[in-house]
Amino acid sequence: MSNLNALYDAHIARLKKSGAALTEYACPDCQQPIETLAPPNGQQFSSMVTCPHREKQHFKVVHDDGRVECFVPFITCRPRTGGGA
Ligand SMILES: [Zn+2]
Repeated sequence: MSNLNALYDAHIARLKKSGAALTEYACPDCQQPIETLAPPNGQQFSSMVTCPHREKQHFKVVHDDGRVECFVPFITCRPRTGGGA
């Protein structure tokens, strides 16, 4: 288990112990379940996320009905043309 996975497990355990509302979704990269805070009615939570399982990044939007939308950023590197700017 990675350090990030251990931190994630400890954080989720604290949230559950406090009675916080959680929702679960499948990571868009590895498909493993990720639990996250559910927002109050009428609100959304959005953030960049590092998957605790395989440490790839995605952007998530958590809706108040428990739905979670995920977007995977793709980075395109432009080849250098040489000669500076
Ligand atoms: Zn993942």
